[in-house]
Amino acid sequence: MKRGFAVASLAALLVLGSCRPGEKTSAPPPPRRLNLVLVTIDTPRPDRLGCYGYSSIETPNLDRLAQRGALFENAVCQAPLTAPSHASMMTGLNPTAHKVRDTGGFVLSGSHTTLAKILQQQGWDTAAFVGASVLKKRFGLDQGFAVYDDAMPKPAEDSERRAGEVVDRAVAWLGSQSGKPFFLWVHVFDPHLPYDPPSPFREKYKGRPYDGEVAYTDQPLGRLLESVAKKSPQENTLIAVLSDHGESFSGHGEYAHGVFLYDTTLRIAFLLAGPGVPPALRVKQQARTIDLLPTILELMGGKTPPEVQGASLRPAFAGKGVPTADSYAETLFSKLNMGWTELRGIRTSRWKYIRAPKPELYDLAQDPAETSNVIAQHPAEAQQLEAKLKSAIGAGADTEKVEPAAMDARTMKQLRSLGYLGGSSQGKQTLTGKGIDPKDRVEILKLLHTAMYSGLPLAQRIAALRQAVAQDPTNPTLYNNLGNLYLEAGRSGELMKL
Ligand SMILES: [Zn+2]
Repeated sequence: MKRGFAVASLAALLVLGSCRPGEKTSAPPPPRRLNLVLVTIDTPRPDRLGCYGYSSIETPNLDRLAQRGALFENAVCQAPLTAPSHASMMTGLNPTAHKVRDTGGFVLSGSHTTLAKILQQQGWDTAAFVGASVLKKRFGLDQGFAVYDDAMPKPAEDSERRAGEVVDRAVAWLGSQSGKPFFLWVHVFDPHLPYDPPSPFREKYKGRPYDGEVAYTDQPLGRLLESVAKKSPQENTLIAVLSDHGESFSGHGEYAHGVFLYDTTLRIAFLLAGPGVPPALRVKQQARTIDLLPTILELMGGKTPPEVQGASLRPAFAGKGVPTADSYAETLFSKLNMGWTELRGIRTSRWKYIRAPKPELYDLAQDPAETSNVIAQHPAEAQQLEAKLKSAIGAGADTEKVEPAAMDARTMKQLRSLGYLGGSSQGKQTLTGKGIDPKDRVEILKLLHTAMYSGLPLAQRIAALRQAVAQDPTNPTLYNNLGNLYLEAGRSGELMKL
């Protein structure tokens, strides 16, 4: 490894051209010229993957990768929403800092340093291939990528594309690479709603379409990893696989993700393999999406920008402690889309504290399913975690204002087809932590799920939404979805009555 580093450093110095070998310099050491492949899978819960112990699924390619490197058993995201979670991976920042607060309606500012920008500036070839319109170029995650492929099959109608197609494009790009180090990001969307696995996974996982989507996704990823192996030897390639968030499946009254901050959606799969990562290692310490960037940069011998809030997980590979004990989490989805209150929290290896109109505290060690709110029994812990939360949010913790950006009609339509409203159009919102507690609205979530994903006849789905509107008349998502169902049913006259 040492010899590789010396050669790599020399090559990097030559590319940078800023100083000659042997010359004394105070500049940070250049990164080791490793190829990097980042795969993000949308929505797979870790406990639905073979390598995390789920025996009712076949995910041989991910399982093999886990054997080659480290598997983080206790990994979490900073927001259970696609765009904010990816922004945390790419910047090493919490959503309060990178400011991508929801999927749709928020654009990552060009002022942030991203992993792709850092590597591109040092001479890496960079390319990204994404599986859904929620990560379209316009949301700013394209920064630092020379190629950013967000083309959907029928751009006017389709908001997602199959993992197989995303991988085909990534493999073609790999084939065109001529020897410069590369950073390839592949995002696959299949396990996200609606669950619709292709054959033969549809039949094999009959009645379990989510598992079918996860199992299907493993197959093209195997093809991708094979292609990577042909292009770049293992000792020269870092591979990271992360989910952006989990899925609730009606746990806590939530059906998908984005409304709550329970572990059903906060916990993610996180695998890392390559030089510097011991094989078949299972890491128990908490790992966060913000830790990806500093970990990758440290493995490359590069320098992490000082503003990064994550920490390198590399010491954990040698059994040492990593400073990841407190993980910030937030979701503004309810505030921006439902007219309810936003949720924020701190998760430690033992506790989960959620700031809400009715705050919650869970003892994860005793109650990993978060079934019993013990805040009344542990006021001191709650107070301490509230103080940590305040400090994580920073100045103006109770007066922060957010305002989603306006979006074009096609983007709005695509986001809606994936269940996102894209920040709606409510203008500036103040995050006070006060208002309607989302956990008092689980009946609305149930009706909304029935209306959007049950497959029931249209009339019944409309009836479910009408009932929801009657119970929660200030919720903009309900009106938007009801309007769309009326249009679908050819009952546009009823729009006027909304
Ligand atoms: Zn997602």
